[in-house]
Amino acid sequence: ERERDLNSLFTKVKSPNGNQFFINSELSLLQKKVQDETLKNEIKDTLEELSEYKKYLLIDIKDLSESDGYNSWRKNEITELSTLVQQRFRNLQNPIDCDNARKLICNINKGCGFGCQIHHLVYCFLVAYGTKRTLILKSKGWRYQKDGWESVFQPLSNTCLSANGQTHSNWPGDENTQVVILPIVDNVFPKPIFQPPSVPSDLAERLRKVHNYPLVWWIGQVLKYLMRPTIETKMLLSEKEEKMKFTKPIVGVHVRRTDKVGTEAAFHDVDEYMLKVEEYFNNLKNPPEKRRIYLASDDPKVIITARQRYPNYEIIADTDIAQTASIARRYSNLSLQGIIMDIHFLSLCDYIVCTFSSQVCRVAYELMQTYSIDASNKFRSLDDIYYYGGQNPNPQIVIYDHVPRKKGEIELKFNDKIEVYGNHWNGYSKGRNLRTGVVGLFPSYKVVNVVKAVDFPKYD
Ligand code: GDP
Repeated sequence: ERERDLNSLFTKVKSPNGNQFFINSELSLLQKKVQDETLKNEIKDTLEELSEYKKYLLIDIKDLSESDGYNSWRKNEITELSTLVQQRFRNLQNPIDCDNARKLICNINKGCGFGCQIHHLVYCFLVAYGTKRTLILKSKGWRYQKDGWESVFQPLSNTCLSANGQTHSNWPGDENTQVVILPIVDNVFPKPIFQPPSVPSDLAERLRKVHNYPLVWWIGQVLKYLMRPTIETKMLLSEKEEKMKFTKPIVGVHVRRTDKVGTEAAFHDVDEYMLKVEEYFNNLKNPPEKRRIYLASDDPKVIITARQRYPNYEIIADTDIAQTASIARRYSNLSLQGIIMDIHFLSLCDYIVCTFSSQVCRVAYELMQTYSIDASNKFRSLDDIYYYGGQNPNPQIVIYDHVPRKKGEIELKFNDKIEVYGNHWNGYSKGRNLRTGVVGLFPSYKVVNVVKAVDFPKYD
């Protein structure tokens, strides 16, 4: 309990946004309610002062974390963890005797978009890692590229790509079945304990000390292994980087439109994203003279609108990408290049503004974790909190009691488990208390994520 408390404290100290969301939202509501102009202006001034308080609080925290002398330790630790994990992945994926290796078969062609298929593949890989089976990917006839995965990414193995074996079975099979076929997460039974939010217990202890969201780091590592580009893809990415003059500091903005809007997510105007971008730049110790964003969208009109409305910004976007994104749903070869590039460049940004309802953005956020010690706070989502599609239950834990103050709020008691439905980004979240069964609002800062440490094989 003590460790959890420390951990949650650390998380909050590093992200004082919750309090800011609350104060901003309450004062803005008050500002709208009052009639008196002087009072209105006073509230406006207070809001401005508060954002300056927050700015310097964030700067102090950042300076503190850099001046405690442990930064080089953190850097080494995270590098060591990554090296260890990547070695284990290589070991698993390159058995000496492929004919007799235990295998798990995964077909990439889940009926959905690229981000969703990548997450499907990650889930397969995690189950493979957890059951010590080499993952065999079936990708011929891939809807994005009929020649398959290897036309853009490196093969998952140098020694073992064949699905052959003496005995076959559907999931879960048993210890002695050589080849097990894994269905998509929606149809898998029994549910593998290795899928998110599980993190290997032998890594979790170390990870907790250096990363605020071990699950996202863990997924990022799997993506790092899976999405190793071929030489051609690598060349394409560096050519684009040069051509677009992709340089830091830069904020990544992903605007998901077309088929998603009104079905799986709400519409958000470009201004809503740009407000968060402004906030990010304003909070920097030395805001750059030229504010730069990398803008990705499946709708090319978004890029035109942003350029018209924000002429002072340098907006980097590949218009080729935008054109192909608009036909993304046709799963053409071109649209594959477009989405690979967009995800790559979004993940290289210093900060990302998007909607976490989109798997494209979540993949970019996960990959972001592979480029710095801890990038878990480097995002603003306009809708959902981070989650992994099809994940096992992942309740948050109450760290402070709560007695409802307003209508619609729910009671919390220390150690209660809360199934969080969403963060309203105004200081409150909505969820269901699993002890009482009651659904309602509660202050977001009174609950924390906990790491679900599960025993995976240790790959000695
Ligand atoms: P989701 O529907 O947003 O959760 O993510 P999916 O990846 O499952 O499906 C969306 C598909 O739309 C992607 O795979 C792309 O083909 C396309 N798409 C969405 N956003 C972008 C973008 O920013 N750039 C490009 N090039 N394509 C996009």
